[in-house]
Amino acid sequence: MRVPLLDLNGQLAPIRAEILAEITRVMDSSMYIMGPDVAKFEENVAAYCQSPRGIGVSSGTDALLCALMGLGIGPGDKVLTSSYSFFATMGSVLRLGATPVFADIDPRTFNISPAKMRELLSQGDKSIKAVIPVHLYGQCAAMDEIMAIAAEYDLPVVEDAAQAIGACFPVAEAGGVRWQRAGSFGAVGCFSFFPSKNLGGMGDGGMMTVQDEVLAEQLDVIRVHGGKPKYYHGVLGGNFRLDAIQAAILDVKLRYLPDWHKGRRRNAQIYEALFQKTGLVEKGLVALPQAVYRALADDPVNGADYHIYNQFVIRVQDRDALRDYLLQHEVGAEIYYPVPLHRQECLVKTGWQGPALPETDKAAAETLALPIFPELSKDMLEFVVAQILEFYQGRGML
Ligand SMILES: *Cc1c(COP(=O)(O)O)cnc(C)c1O
Repeated sequence: MRVPLLDLNGQLAPIRAEILAEITRVMDSSMYIMGPDVAKFEENVAAYCQSPRGIGVSSGTDALLCALMGLGIGPGDKVLTSSYSFFATMGSVLRLGATPVFADIDPRTFNISPAKMRELLSQGDKSIKAVIPVHLYGQCAAMDEIMAIAAEYDLPVVEDAAQAIGACFPVAEAGGVRWQRAGSFGAVGCFSFFPSKNLGGMGDGGMMTVQDEVLAEQLDVIRVHGGKPKYYHGVLGGNFRLDAIQAAILDVKLRYLPDWHKGRRRNAQIYEALFQKTGLVEKGLVALPQAVYRALADDPVNGADYHIYNQFVIRVQDRDALRDYLLQHEVGAEIYYPVPLHRQECLVKTGWQGPALPETDKAAAETLALPIFPELSKDMLEFVVAQILEFYQGRGML
């Protein structure tokens, strides 16, 4: 059996005709840049993400860059974020001449630790000008505490929600919780439509969700070279536009997104049950991902989007050897991310220094992402777990 890490064909088959019709329609409209398709998709994403405004951009990376430009981040500024993320989280900071400051992660969620954020901020460094929490793998960072800390230090929050469109955080309320979606907490939420994200385009694309109308207007202008009116550039921007054809494709896919999230959660539950039967968890050879908000959802699959499992990431012993074994046995597995941002050459060679990040380093050495896409069959999930079991049995570890 072959189980790829991600196979988009199963997702595409049932919606192929619908998408082709949209592509044809946009082609015949000859409106390829911005226009009504982008505007409609922006409205739909904003509504889905419980935000007043959505601004389509060219990628998740450009969403982060544009957001930081809008907040006036520049040379001499520092941005507090997580080192355990995709490069773009830091790349957007560096490209503006600013430098990152990293707080270590919470080992349970792989997301930035509010306690560590507080520790850093209490040192009184006034050059820290913004915070970027990352909702890694599709589970929200601790947004209640993060927003409270940011408010205390008067720092704008840019959410890197590239892996977390639709993921909800349980906000405590009288009589229970209110599930609030990623990207609706901070000043700007940044989303990616890279093909491997839960909502993936057929090319690059991204979106900013914005809470404040004034900031939204500024970002809207920065997206088009800072020109308003056209050819009059009061501020510096860039070409950060979303293509109409991507917007039209993504707008179709957005309607199916809630079901795809459920499919991923169902697969996560199946994995958990299968792993529990192997003994690997009790032996400490495999640690399953922790869905820390699940207990608050009324149904683990069909209830709130407490986790959208953009990735299903386990911690394992002998990670690199296990990954090689899985690849040899035709099971896709990937390491997100082998080199944390604070160890990336382009940063280190600038002489940058920061505090030790032991949990980040540990995660980078132990984590492994397994196939989790919604169309996987139970047989395929069983095969993946069986291969992992055989790997440890073969080494006499179980
Ligand atoms: C994918 C991703 C990005 C960048 O998105 P692109 O659309 O590929 O530019 C940024 N941050 C995180 C955490 C991501 O996973």
